[in-house]
Amino acid sequence: MKLATKFIHAGTEPDPTTGAIMTPIYQTSTYLQSAPGVHKGYDYSRAGNPTRTALEEAYAQIENGKYGLAFSSGVAATDAVIKLLEPGDEIIAANDMYGGTYRLFTKIFEKFGLKFHYVNMQDANNIKAHINKKTKLIWTETPTNPLMNVVDIAAVAKIAKKNKILLCVDNTFASPYLQNPLDLGADIVMHSATKYLGGHSDVIQGCLVMNDAALREKLFFIQKSCGAVPGPMDCFLVLRGIKTLHVRMQRHCENGKKIAHFLRNHPKIKTVYWCGFKDHPGYTVAKKQMRDFGGMMSFELKNDSAKEVKRVLSSTKLFSLAESLGGVESLINHPATMTHASIPREERIKNGLSDGLIRLSVGIEDADDLIEDLKKAIR
Ligand SMILES: *Cc1c(COP(=O)(O)O)cnc(C)c1O
Repeated sequence: MKLATKFIHAGTEPDPTTGAIMTPIYQTSTYLQSAPGVHKGYDYSRAGNPTRTALEEAYAQIENGKYGLAFSSGVAATDAVIKLLEPGDEIIAANDMYGGTYRLFTKIFEKFGLKFHYVNMQDANNIKAHINKKTKLIWTETPTNPLMNVVDIAAVAKIAKKNKILLCVDNTFASPYLQNPLDLGADIVMHSATKYLGGHSDVIQGCLVMNDAALREKLFFIQKSCGAVPGPMDCFLVLRGIKTLHVRMQRHCENGKKIAHFLRNHPKIKTVYWCGFKDHPGYTVAKKQMRDFGGMMSFELKNDSAKEVKRVLSSTKLFSLAESLGGVESLINHPATMTHASIPREERIKNGLSDGLIRLSVGIEDADDLIEDLKKAIR
């Protein structure tokens, strides 16, 4: 089945009781039992809810996986994966990833006796030096946030398989429209559905998708035991978002390409980070594992004084200065003080994330209007 058809029909069956074409919002916490323990598959909404079931089925289908699990946020989904581990276990994580993931690892999980190694995964071979008997998980993200570095998922998966280590890929930036990590050998795909899957900046949610039934049972047990589940209304919103993922992503990609080239040709701009440029270090791998290059990018001004960076960030009218990404509307962001403020400055600079870096989430407005807006701000 082609992507457009899949995204529209994923998880959606007409409601068996009423024939409703759209999945009803089952706003209930509990369910009738005809005798103790005898029910129609649902007993309590932390463990399961029909709206969530429809969405979890959709998550599985859009990532070419067998099982989907929905969480109350992207970090809650990440949290569930780490809870598969035991004290003393070691994790190899990408050195350039979402700040909230880094914060969860360093500030919450290190104190429970887990050890994280942060590695530049643009060369998958860098992982090998950190593997030992205690290594249980490799965590990566590609393209990375916000520097748009690309990790070769198939190459990392090969190393993970050979050493019997679980591989989880945060696929938030690419979305399943651009890339499907399970097909490339990952064991788990994680999404912040808050971003492209929801697509309208109106919901916080996360998900995990996998193929292995035993792994699904473990993660389901964590999901219901820890309780970070989304409500039925939020599940409905993401189900609705997924139906237009294909057309939105098409436009994000078209606009992204136009704006990346506009920025690159701008005399006041020093560097543009976008993995669709042929001279981008990750271009070959991106071309191999992604269907297109998306609408996320970042750049540095030639004059990167704090004052000028701040001026540009507060001068755009169509690009709203805000955290998050992947919605229909364009956003501009300052990673150093906003999305990535939880990473210590020294660590951040070491990984190439400068104080002056500006990130764009290019929306699906008219590209010419967006370019006009940037022209007025960058002068
Ligand atoms: C936003 C984001 C997350 C966290 O998801 P939330 O829904 O905000 O909890 C994780 N990874 C990436 C790449 C993100 O952009």
